[in-house]
Amino acid sequence: MADENIIDGKAFAADLRARIGEAVTQLKAQHDLTPGLAVVLVGADPASQVYVRNKNKATLEAGMQSFEHVLPDTTSQEELLSLIERLNSDDAVHGILVQLPLPDQIDEQAVIDAIDPAKDADGFHVINTGRLAAGGDAMVPCTPLGCLMMLKDRLGDLSGKEAVIVGRSNIVGKPMAQLLLDANCTITICHSRTADLPATCRRADILVAAVGRPEMVRGDWIKPGAAVIDVGINRVPKPGEEGKFRLVGDVAFDEAKDVAGVIAPVPGGVGPMTIACLLANTVTAACRQKGIEPPAL
Ligand code: NDP
Repeated sequence: MADENIIDGKAFAADLRARIGEAVTQLKAQHDLTPGLAVVLVGADPASQVYVRNKNKATLEAGMQSFEHVLPDTTSQEELLSLIERLNSDDAVHGILVQLPLPDQIDEQAVIDAIDPAKDADGFHVINTGRLAAGGDAMVPCTPLGCLMMLKDRLGDLSGKEAVIVGRSNIVGKPMAQLLLDANCTITICHSRTADLPATCRRADILVAAVGRPEMVRGDWIKPGAAVIDVGINRVPKPGEEGKFRLVGDVAFDEAKDVAGVIAPVPGGVGPMTIACLLANTVTAACRQKGIEPPAL
């Protein structure tokens, strides 16, 4: 497979962030509106700290306002809910993201439910899930939104394509299926009880793997020429280097790249798109809250 068939998520995300930056400049000039994103981190999980730092940097680089709230891991549910309430009523905050996972003493669902659906930058609130399913102005979860953007960029019109999504989580699999259905694909959602996963995957013109099992999808599960989007992020030991790890996806890349028409690899595919889509969601949320038509990003 030639390199141009490998989707460069880093470059795509950089382009998207540049477009977001231009949209923000216009919103400031024409509407005196600076989109603002609040990110809440509870505890000191090192991976979450890195994510939050990157989100903060990307938000500022796009010309937006960033509000970072880092709370100790002893924070009670009541304290977190009262912060969410303050952010819900703060006019400078248009998007709110609470970094998951949360410490054991906090009920994640209660926190997600407390976020104003209009400011739900992650699109996890049940109102947004419902709007996505019923067809309305939903906030769409960032990772599947990024996958859809990459697919449309590479394939153009997705109408009539057979799409197979492996994984049915609320944050990736289900919203991905919904977005591809809205794009007029014919959808199959697979999961751990799917009877013949390889045969089902082989039907796919578009195959999205969101499972969390290293290199589970083999090359001979892929229809020649299919578009393959690997969402999985798995840390596996580096052969011959004790104590060191490398990231692999849910797709066996070396086998798949020779069969697929286009493929989003891990790392460097879907991952970089997630933060860019978070910024895009915040711009969309800010516009809707002000009654302005959101820019087409
Ligand atoms: P979940 O664990 O919530 O869901 C995994 C899904 O995979 C479930 O629906 C499960 O089925 C299914 N599954 C598990 N084993 C098998 C199997 N052997 N055959 C078929 N299906 C199987 O994971 P997430 O959706 O949250 O995440 C999936 C992957 O994507 C993870 O690696 C995660 O790290 C990554 N991810 C990446 C992001 C990014 O920014 N790039 C963002 C979010 C996630 P069942 O429902 O039957 O249990």
